[in-house]
Amino acid sequence: MGLLSLGTPLHWNEAKEYADHVHKHGILQFLNIYNSQKDQKKQRLLWGDEIEYLVVKFNDKEKSTKLSLRAFDILEKLTKPETDYVEGLTDKAPDALWRPEYGRYMIEGTPGQPYGSTFRDLIQVEANMKLRRKLAHDAMDPDEHAVSLVNYPRLGCPHELYPDYEPKGSACQSLFVPDEIINPHARFPTLTANIRRRRGSKVKINMPIFHDNNTPKPFIDPTIPWDRDLFKHDKEAKEGAALPDHIYMDAMAFGMGCCCLQLTFQACCIDEARRLYDQLAPVTPLMLALSANSPIYRGYLADVDARWNVISASVDDRPPEERGEEPLKNSRFVINKSRYDSIDSYLSNDATYKAKYDDIDLVYDKDIYNTLRENDIDEKLAKHIAHLFIRDPLVIFKELLDVDDKLSSDHFENLQSTNWQTMRFKPPPPNSSIGWRVEFRSMEVQMSDFENAAFSVFIVLLTRAILSFGLNFYIPISKVDANLQTAHKRDAVLNEKFYFRKHVFNNRSKTDTEKEEDEDAYELMTMDEIENGFPGFVPLIHSYLNSTNIDIETRCKLSSYISLISKRASGELMTGAAYLRKFVQNHPAYKQDSVVSSEITYDLVKRADQIAKGEYHPVELLGNFSA
Ligand code: GLU
Ligand code: MG
Repeated sequence: MGLLSLGTPLHWNEAKEYADHVHKHGILQFLNIYNSQKDQKKQRLLWGDEIEYLVVKFNDKEKSTKLSLRAFDILEKLTKPETDYVEGLTDKAPDALWRPEYGRYMIEGTPGQPYGSTFRDLIQVEANMKLRRKLAHDAMDPDEHAVSLVNYPRLGCPHELYPDYEPKGSACQSLFVPDEIINPHARFPTLTANIRRRRGSKVKINMPIFHDNNTPKPFIDPTIPWDRDLFKHDKEAKEGAALPDHIYMDAMAFGMGCCCLQLTFQACCIDEARRLYDQLAPVTPLMLALSANSPIYRGYLADVDARWNVISASVDDRPPEERGEEPLKNSRFVINKSRYDSIDSYLSNDATYKAKYDDIDLVYDKDIYNTLRENDIDEKLAKHIAHLFIRDPLVIFKELLDVDDKLSSDHFENLQSTNWQTMRFKPPPPNSSIGWRVEFRSMEVQMSDFENAAFSVFIVLLTRAILSFGLNFYIPISKVDANLQTAHKRDAVLNEKFYFRKHVFNNRSKTDTEKEEDEDAYELMTMDEIENGFPGFVPLIHSYLNSTNIDIETRCKLSSYISLISKRASGELMTGAAYLRKFVQNHPAYKQDSVVSSEITYDLVKRADQIAKGEYHPVELLGNFSA
């Protein structure tokens, strides 16, 4: 989730006084990095994945589960090999790196070393993911398990935490979750409280309920404590924050407590990173739809399959003026999106980019933009950074206000790492040997490591195909936004259409272009057409593989990964979301009323764990590949 700094975090009232300081020094830090690293070249691709897990405690006797708030004890054990290695106590490099996440019930694991560019590297991914899961489990109590569900189905329902706490914390002031659910590191409760303070109200998350045969219409949630009167924000639910026919959630944990699968790529140079950023941006919504795995929130089946909008609303710190609901008086900008959202502009200067693709009116800080331009940052990059910097720093540590801008990137990272967008362009850390990177952030974590490996490898191979064939996926960026919303819909993969470019090869011959009025034409396509059509992602990846030297065994393994994605797109296999929804609907205890009870939750989480461990193999989800 990004940067962890230590010190005394400031209350928003004080922090806002230093926003300019952080902005100003953040830009100086960026300029220092840019100037020292802009010509840096790396010989080879490095990449890595991040998987976030829930820690779930099972009670098999009572057939119940709870979210375990012991992530910190577990992480202490998990990080020991890394700490020992860093401190020189051992020569053995760690197999995995572990980090805390927003939820006190979450852990995040990455491979111990980045993967390289060889095919051999690609077939190690699944094994490393499996090893990570085992390491995680070994560091837990025997009844705890690392479950890679996006969202704990009953997060925010009473008595679902271990240990149990009443929902009455001052940081989130939630009607449903206690502050103890938040990572206790000072950064996280402060982030939570400062989002609320800056916004002037609690965050407001409403996901449409899935109306089943016995779901009341309208659905007015009987489990909301409508009349609670503990905090001033308690009235919000009653005063309209909680919408009828929706699952209402009121805390950052509902979003940032979700788990994802992210990939980071180190490019050979800054220009390649910028090109990958642009080409992968239109891919992010498509992969959200294909990886969709979160149809349940706060004990109810939702009418969406994916988490993105939940997280987006869960960290939306914009006060009414920034949201455009009141005239600007104290705020500087009307901002079209939350900090956690899709990107608003492309970044590359290569020949295939055209200004018309950037059809969103970009909000950016003009002063910062001018400073960057005066310092020889090109227009696109200057706008990109000046756009990230329309946000205020939310967590400021008093002790870390004055730092050496040549040695530190803390202030830059403060803004960079709290712009949680579908793609992230990552400059190297100061004075390091790391290159220019991009992060692919939209995908939902999958129940099994076969699936997590498949999604990861698929995107890695797609980046190779993009670079070696010079593919062009540009469409107007507003259409990428539209696709992101479409991706949330129930069974979007099967029933919806997504904007995609008709011609993905550059350098088309003159006759081709003459025949076609518009070489930049795009149209609505099914997921099957985009992935499996001609030339869809799947055939493109296969042509790329055909153009390389690759042994049979490796080829088979990679093909099974590609096939999984291909079959999800064609509907031959189910998405995780479809599988989970069906699991609930077929459960003997389900009353067709959208309610996902504790009993159903136990069986569902158990099933997810069995799938992860290979103890259960649902062919409709996984096909016959990993058997
Ligand atoms: N857990 C968040 C998600 O599901 C991402 C947090 C992070 O940036 O690591 O997208
Ligand atoms: Mg994370």
